[in-house]
Amino acid sequence: HYNFCAGPAALPTAVLEKAREELLDYQGRGLSVMEMSHRSPEFVAIAEQAEADLRELLAVPDNYRVLFLQGGASMQFAMLPYNLLGQGGTPNYLYTGIWGKKAIAEARHLAGAHVAASSEANGLTAVPRQEDIALSGDAAYLHYTSNETIGGLAFDYIPEGRLADGSEVPVVCDMSSSILSGPLDVSQFGVIYAGAQKNIGPAGLTLAIVRDDLLDRARPDTPTMFNYKVMAEHGSMYNTPPTYSWYLAGLVFQWLKHEIGGLEAMNALNERKAAKLYAAIDQSDMYSNPIAVDNRSRMNVPFVLADDRLDKAFLAESEEAGLLNLKGHRSVGGMRASLYNAVPESGVDTLVEFMADFERRRG
Ligand code: PLP
Repeated sequence: HYNFCAGPAALPTAVLEKAREELLDYQGRGLSVMEMSHRSPEFVAIAEQAEADLRELLAVPDNYRVLFLQGGASMQFAMLPYNLLGQGGTPNYLYTGIWGKKAIAEARHLAGAHVAASSEANGLTAVPRQEDIALSGDAAYLHYTSNETIGGLAFDYIPEGRLADGSEVPVVCDMSSSILSGPLDVSQFGVIYAGAQKNIGPAGLTLAIVRDDLLDRARPDTPTMFNYKVMAEHGSMYNTPPTYSWYLAGLVFQWLKHEIGGLEAMNALNERKAAKLYAAIDQSDMYSNPIAVDNRSRMNVPFVLADDRLDKAFLAESEEAGLLNLKGHRSVGGMRASLYNAVPESGVDTLVEFMADFERRRG
């Protein structure tokens, strides 16, 4: 079977096998990682190794803190403005899809928000270019969503938060559905965050990478559990962290390093997978994808059938063929194949063959 779910997503089989092997007895300690104190030397070693591996994979500079949080990316939508608005200013956002819209709504609760550029006019099919971004003069930060998971719309560049006077505001990115899909220049960002349940590990863990000069900007009314600085000072263990998800994320990082060979190799594989599927869509008369070619997501490939009366049959037959979770998001319909890191190239090959066969029979 191949799992094309948008999240929680497929995990590498090797990771699940390792977890199974260690489930009842972690390295001869006689207990499961799930049963360990987060303060025990065993768990602290797991946690530190996971952070070190992530830092190595993403080449995270020393002036960034890596936080292992809870609450999902949705909680970051609120946590972020609390942490960055202590000196006032207006949060600025790029609107390119449903997740960005939710992030904007949370900032509005607290401080109002300025939409500095939007893809609304083109029906969420292309991202704004740098020259279209108009920050408010008092911008506190610029937030965008690198990959809109539902629309399948991805940035092909890193926007700059440049004010009219030439000064820079921190760029913040929701990378929930693109992080670890390839190398990344972390130094261009103030804050990066991501829910874990796509390329990092199981749900329940949320990653934040925060430049350390931004740890002193929290609003005074920031709840303790929302405060990046508190979390940084406590090694993400102010309270009980999601220990098992953290451990599994660590296994995924090991897999990326040792089985895949790092993020350059991952990038090449993801490029190939996406190219094969988009080529199949573009060559067919039955399937289509509306996104501007440069902004097509490599991770989430939405497509529709020319005749949506065939959707039901497509879904039933694909499932029968072992191709799981191809139904599009309920808000947009159609199909969506998520090609996260753990989906092997053979999964894409099988999907492409199925699609061609379905078109021959039903087209
Ligand atoms: N942002 C993006 C880009 C997402 O894809 C998702 C979930 O799919 C979220 C935010 C929300 O994440 P969570 O469920 O972790 O709150």
